[in-house]
Amino acid sequence: MAHYKYLIVGNSAGGIGAVEAIREVDSQGSLAIVSDEPYSAYSRPAISEFLMGERGFGDRMYYRDPEFYDRHRVEQHLGARVARLDLESREAVLENGDRLGWERLLLATGGVPITPRMDGLELQGVHRFTTIDHARNIDAALQQGAKRVVVVGGGLIGCSLTSALVQRGGVEVVMVELLDRVLAAVMDATASALVEARLRELGVRVVTGHSVASILPAASDASRVGSVALNSGEEVPCDLVGVAVGVAPRLELVRETPIQVNRGIVVDHHMETTVPGVFACGDVAEAYDFIYDSHRVVAIWPNAYIGGRIAGLNMAGGHHEYDGCTAMNSFSYFDMALASAGLFDPGADDPVQTITVSGDGVYKKVVLRDGWLVGFLLQGDIDQAGVLFRLMRDRVPVADFQDRLLEDGFGLVSLPRPLRDAWLSEGVGPDGSLTGGLAAK
Ligand SMILES: Cc1cc2nc3c(=O)[nH]c(=O)nc-3n(C[C@H](O)[C@H](O)[C@H](O)COP(=O)(O)OP(=O)(O)OC[C@H]3O[C@@H](n4cnc5c(N)ncnc54)[C@H](O)[C@@H]3O)c2cc1C
Repeated sequence: MAHYKYLIVGNSAGGIGAVEAIREVDSQGSLAIVSDEPYSAYSRPAISEFLMGERGFGDRMYYRDPEFYDRHRVEQHLGARVARLDLESREAVLENGDRLGWERLLLATGGVPITPRMDGLELQGVHRFTTIDHARNIDAALQQGAKRVVVVGGGLIGCSLTSALVQRGGVEVVMVELLDRVLAAVMDATASALVEARLRELGVRVVTGHSVASILPAASDASRVGSVALNSGEEVPCDLVGVAVGVAPRLELVRETPIQVNRGIVVDHHMETTVPGVFACGDVAEAYDFIYDSHRVVAIWPNAYIGGRIAGLNMAGGHHEYDGCTAMNSFSYFDMALASAGLFDPGADDPVQTITVSGDGVYKKVVLRDGWLVGFLLQGDIDQAGVLFRLMRDRVPVADFQDRLLEDGFGLVSLPRPLRDAWLSEGVGPDGSLTGGLAAK
């Protein structure tokens, strides 16, 4: 049986963050990474660009260069699923029966696509969209002539898929969203309406406030998709269905173990679980959210990478604390740039102050509480995202200059001199960008 000082399950943002951190401290301790995907780590957010045809799967999708694993002396077990953990003997049992022992274990197992309850999910032509293989399968189906697509879900993953399909062209797309607006988790109602208008302009039919009740077989071939039935009773013909309703923490390895779980795996500020020597990070774990002052699942790439780094440093004997994260999304779908973070859509009862500006294809909003910036949303012009995020994360009192936060050109030079000097001495770029934070993707 192979035995390692460090064993990492999950070869993506969190796993790679941990490898790099471990090797900064311990250049020799044996280290292995296991993944049931058969590839070196790749950029999961970029599967949309792959489907658009903008990136091949070669070097341009990989997260690190081809020598990365050798250089960091990492043994890779790819295409190998860990079936269960034996916490007493400190062994991971692979699906093929092999056992991998550990002294310190990191669970960076990410998320698993949420499966809505509906008939017909087993039909040919039904796809998910969270891995490069999913993107390849959709690519193959489109190449074989699929022309009418129903995307189930109008959240980030559904929009990522729709954006790729629109960009690629040659297909009719219908997006079905259960909530009354798209991208509800990352935008307010005003911004969602702008996106929906843009989608319609691009020829996408957007059906909000409805769900797909079932996926129905084609009349000509009962093994293939032919349409979907909405809960309104309407039948929408299609030959491809993209089920993209989000991801949930992938918890299969910790169920039935003493490792405590809420929505995700519970970790402390050191990213250690309730079982000593076992760490967790990324989409599977509940990291500290500095805006909500509580531990939550924050399913974004930078949080996985930085959480993995903190876990790795501590696995190698350090005592580092994760000072926390908050949901920060920035993307450009449908030729619209968007960034949002923190409490960007407060409830009517939240004791906050909101400042908005809009016009000329731009909509911007900051949310303040007791003189602190606690959230922002930028649409159309996201240049200020880096500096706003930093003000939020560092809890900089902004009352003295809050009216200028949304001015064109607000940036590092607009900050009070002592703050600007302090940031510059830490090597912050002129746009306030955060190395290892926003830039980590
Ligand atoms: C389409 C899409 C678009 C996205 N866009 C953005 C974006 O624009 N910006 C952003 O910040 N984030 C984005 N995200 C989210 C981001 O990709 C995730 O937050 C990030 O990948 C989480 O990294 P992770 O290391 O926690 O887990 P993951 O990237 O999910 O990787 C976990 C790995 O562990 C493997 N694994 C799990 N269980 C086992 C097991 N038992 N045995 C072996 N291997 C196992 C999985 O197969 C997987 O390879 C997007 C996600 C998707 C799907």
